[in-house]
Amino acid sequence: MCRVAVIGSGFSGLSASCFLAAAGFDVTVFEKNESPGGRARSFESNGFLFDMGPSWYWMPDVFEKFFKQFDKKPTDYYKLIRLDPSYRVIFNSDDSIDVPADIEMLKKLFDQLEKGSGDELIKFLGEAKFKYELAINKLVYLPGLKITELLDAKLIRALFKLHVFQPIRSYVKKFFTDPRLIQLLEFPVLFLGSKPETTPALYSLMNYADMALGTWYPLGGMRNLVNAMVSLAKSLGVKFSFNSEIQQIEVESHKATGLCVNGDFHPFDDIIASADYHHVEQDLLAPLHRNYSESHWKTKVMSPSTLIFYVGLNKKIDGLLHHTLFFDKDFDIHAREIYDRPQWPSSPQFYVGCPSKTDPSVAPQGCENLMILIPVACGLNDTDQIREQYFNDVMDRMEKITQSSIRPHIVFKRSYAHRDFSKDYNAFKGNAYGLANTLSQTANLRPSILNKKVSNLFYTGQLTVPGPGVPPAIISGEVVAKQLIKTHRELIT
Ligand SMILES: Cc1cc2nc3c(=O)[nH]c(=O)nc-3n(C[C@H](O)[C@H](O)[C@H](O)COP(=O)(O)OP(=O)(O)OC[C@H]3O[C@@H](n4cnc5c(N)ncnc54)[C@H](O)[C@@H]3O)c2cc1C
Repeated sequence: MCRVAVIGSGFSGLSASCFLAAAGFDVTVFEKNESPGGRARSFESNGFLFDMGPSWYWMPDVFEKFFKQFDKKPTDYYKLIRLDPSYRVIFNSDDSIDVPADIEMLKKLFDQLEKGSGDELIKFLGEAKFKYELAINKLVYLPGLKITELLDAKLIRALFKLHVFQPIRSYVKKFFTDPRLIQLLEFPVLFLGSKPETTPALYSLMNYADMALGTWYPLGGMRNLVNAMVSLAKSLGVKFSFNSEIQQIEVESHKATGLCVNGDFHPFDDIIASADYHHVEQDLLAPLHRNYSESHWKTKVMSPSTLIFYVGLNKKIDGLLHHTLFFDKDFDIHAREIYDRPQWPSSPQFYVGCPSKTDPSVAPQGCENLMILIPVACGLNDTDQIREQYFNDVMDRMEKITQSSIRPHIVFKRSYAHRDFSKDYNAFKGNAYGLANTLSQTANLRPSILNKKVSNLFYTGQLTVPGPGVPPAIISGEVVAKQLIKTHRELIT
């Protein structure tokens, strides 16, 4: 039986391992950390259960499609609920909106904020739906290896309707003038790790995901999605080796022969690297076997890193929903401080996740579980002192806006930023979300899933196709597994 090693147990590695095991390969996943999930790991402390990374469960169809290929459904593993309101956006102390799940109610909300914008929203979402369906059915599952993949008659006919060459900022402004609506529609771009001025309007498909497909929550937290995929993988025969950091990929005559793990050599026939692409190439491969040089990586636009605070409170607080976005500061200044002149932000926007509003299992009774997340530039000097300064800033703003006393009720606090991302995940420049989806880093222009010099080494994850986010990482694993399976079939015939 052909032996495949998967480096890393994030969503992309888990997804790839399931497809390969189902196709009859002997699969072992090596994970440097003691638990699976990668950036979606979780931890427990003082009775609080914290998801460390993703908290927004968008595009439920992608999860359905993944499990269906193994004759399973998400609900075989976890209970999924749709949040309503989907989330709260705070513009300042006395101006906020709750985004309703129901489209008719959303339309009314738009009309209240800008006369006539409800009808514009329906038109906008109609175009976004067209893009979403075309992208999901034609684009995101492409391996990005040949330009001919894009020469699909339906894609070519639709090119102008996809708005690939128009930035999402100017596109949104064609429909809406109220700055709050513009901010609301630009916000999902943050998931792609780029600025609205440089993100193709193709990605208004994310607004369809947000407003039409909805914001969901797997009860128990995102860890239940990780557990579901691990359980599926194990049922298919995948073996897991935790606390197993790969030190080197051994190569002979342009073929990988195996992996060095904790000082031992393990032979394999094929390798899929789902750890950060930059780390795999620069740290695990000799220079002559790399696709890209260090200077190439320096030209790449990384998605942001994040400064996160996991906080447990010994009381309930008002003013927050399950998801709350604090847009009470200027986003353009914050975005410039992430992308154009990378520096610690002068006055950042931030996000607060409070899953205990929905799920009593994530905090002791009467308590609140908070994840406070500030997007920041990659590669910054990350010190305890700087982290504390931002903690005080967000606490001041949260206490003022929610009119609640928070600080005296903190019973647990942990911070997490660049140096943790680098240490825990070997993340290039301490990035959180991989490689940004700018126009010049989309589809075939992203780092290749194939190593061009080592015939049996493949890459997956948020630095390659299709991009950052949980659904794209799951898709990335499927794409690379199917490419490996195809390569084997071609060798046999
Ligand atoms: C704070 C945060 C919030 C986010 N929020 C959302 C959200 O709300 N919704 C959403 O859709 N997406 C969100 N994302 C993005 C999403 O979590 C990621 O895109 C996705 O989880 C990436 O999966 P991956 O498999 O590509 O990488 P990873 O999860 O990083 O997996 C790679 C794995 O490789 C392991 N590894 C690294 N080096 C080695 C080595 N040498 N040997 C062995 N193992 C190694 C790492 O430990 C890791 O487990 C968020 C990300 C972060 C960080």
